[in-house]
Amino acid sequence: MKKIVIIGGGASGMTAAIAAKAQAPEAEVRILEHKDMLGKKLLSTGNGRCNFTNERMEPQCFFSDSPKCVEPVIRRFGTHDTLQFFENLGIMAKSRNGYYYPQPDQAGAVLHVFKMRLRTLGVGIDTNQHVREVRKVRSGFLIHTDENTYQADRVILACGGKAFAVSGSDGSGYSLAGSLGHSIVPVVPALVQLKTAGHPLAKASGVRTEAKVSAYESGHFIAADTGEVQITAYGISGIPVFQISRHVAKALYYKKKAEVTVDFLPAVTAEELTVLFEKRKAGRDIFTMSEFLTGIFNQKLIPCLLKYAQIREGTKVQKVGRTQWKQLVDTCKYLSLQITDTNGFDHAQVCAGGVRLDEINTDTMESLRCSHLYLAGELLDVDGICGGYNLQWAWASGYLAGKNAAK
Ligand SMILES: Cc1cc2nc3c(=O)[nH]c(=O)nc-3n(C[C@H](O)[C@H](O)[C@H](O)COP(=O)(O)OP(=O)(O)OC[C@H]3O[C@@H](n4cnc5c(N)ncnc54)[C@H](O)[C@@H]3O)c2cc1C
Repeated sequence: MKKIVIIGGGASGMTAAIAAKAQAPEAEVRILEHKDMLGKKLLSTGNGRCNFTNERMEPQCFFSDSPKCVEPVIRRFGTHDTLQFFENLGIMAKSRNGYYYPQPDQAGAVLHVFKMRLRTLGVGIDTNQHVREVRKVRSGFLIHTDENTYQADRVILACGGKAFAVSGSDGSGYSLAGSLGHSIVPVVPALVQLKTAGHPLAKASGVRTEAKVSAYESGHFIAADTGEVQITAYGISGIPVFQISRHVAKALYYKKKAEVTVDFLPAVTAEELTVLFEKRKAGRDIFTMSEFLTGIFNQKLIPCLLKYAQIREGTKVQKVGRTQWKQLVDTCKYLSLQITDTNGFDHAQVCAGGVRLDEINTDTMESLRCSHLYLAGELLDVDGICGGYNLQWAWASGYLAGKNAAK
């Protein structure tokens, strides 16, 4: 009887266990998890609602140093397969503009159906087992935890990355993969807030505003996104910031200068804004500049914008010169923030980087460095944008790993 040991009982590990049992019901499948429960991170996903996949599933939604290796996995197990897999587990799905959630809006329900299926399939679950070594031996693998040694014919590494370590993913998977011959693309936080130096918007902390954020590495454009930006005491946050954060984090990792410009009025060009301000002056000559901007920007943001444009809040509209008007337009369209850091792994939703994907056979998720070893999930050098893509990668790679390990 084939023995399959899965290290890590998160999204990809639980999927791998179910797929392995579906492929070979007679196989002995065991999950080793060092937390006291399975799927701890899953409970926090989508603000507790679990955005588990997305209608739009394209290679451009994922990043990797080996981008061509991502597509075969997503093609083999895409949105439709995920929806079917969860329907089969008992999850009724609902779509919000193409973003899929469980009908009850509870990540807990997703974890619950996983646990029920693992139990009915007879998957062994050993929690509180921290795996510290996996050794390849003639008879397969020996897996050492702090308390036990397990023997396996096939091993699936599904330890996650090192984002949000409180949920269990402490980065130990990278060392385990490294000890079995794999190389690691430098790991940086992704889908994370950004910190800025001499924060010009600090006084607007708490403001949420529609804006476009554009990231530059040593002056070269690298990424942009538009949506609701949140200004924090230390920098910027919100979905568009998350979307560009992996690019900024990589730039910072390589000690490049990282800058983000904020466009507070993405719907109009700088020229249109100049004309708009010109027209707005009519009848407002004796207003202060603060009053002039009231109705366009959040009240808390106005003093920051004026200060950045070097215009005093109390200055009368009629006293503002051409250069200052230009400075104000530039400020509204291209306010520049020097990024000093991300908010770190503990606040990141995922990691960018990980085990090199071109060292994996992405038809089967078997290692090309160590036979009978399979890898899945965030441990690999793949990160997706916000919107259910990281879980989709976990389900897809976990499914392929489990199914093929059991063959
Ligand atoms: C706050 C938050 C919200 C998120 N929301 C979403 C969302 O809505 N949609 C989406 O697509 N993605 C979301 N993500 C990302 C998503 O949760 C992860 O990409 C996904 O869980 C990765 O699955 P995984 O199986 O690779 O790793 P994990 O889910 O992290 O599981 C790895 C497991 O391995 C265990 N483990 C690690 N090392 C060892 C070891 N040495 N021995 C034993 N066990 C070990 C860990 O304890 C953990 O249980 C979110 C992430 C966070 C942090």
